[in-house]
Amino acid sequence: MERTLILFKPDAIQRGLVGEILSVFEKKGFKIVGTKMLKMTPELAKRHYAHLVDKPFYPDLERFMTSQPIIAMVIEGVDVVSVVRDIVGATNARQAAPGTIRARFSNSVSRNVIHASDSVETAKKEIANFFSEEELFDYELVLKPFFYAGDEE
Ligand code: UDP
Ligand code: MG
Repeated sequence: MERTLILFKPDAIQRGLVGEILSVFEKKGFKIVGTKMLKMTPELAKRHYAHLVDKPFYPDLERFMTSQPIIAMVIEGVDVVSVVRDIVGATNARQAAPGTIRARFSNSVSRNVIHASDSVETAKKEIANFFSEEELFDYELVLKPFFYAGDEE
């Protein structure tokens, strides 16, 4: 089973979109294994977005992401990393495929409501940036046989 990191960005919280977006992942069959509200520090922003710190848009990105608390969440499921990236849609919401979260809830390249890890390797690093082992939970979804056949896990 894979895990991925989701961040509900400040726009999702201000606009009251957290429940609706989370509901998409829950109904898809992904299991919440950890969640917290936190204020991103500039240091954490620089670690999380290390690949972008030299970009011209980085100062605005850091200002935005540290402007108020965000909600971080780890969800688990079969191929969760790539499936969630597909459900979230392109970075530029104006080019995101119809039906994706960004297409439905954003029209911006920067205020695009949610973050999702882009590879299994990135997910491992990103999860460790936000959560300790004790903050992530192993438990059984009792409805799992209704989401997956045994040979899919
Ligand atoms: N971003 C931006 N302008 C850009 C590209 C990215 O403001 O031209 C912001 C945007 O919030 C995006 C984040 O930087 O979600 C991280 O960029 P990345 O390329 O990793 O996109 P993502 O993985 O979020 O789709
Ligand atoms: Mg990214």
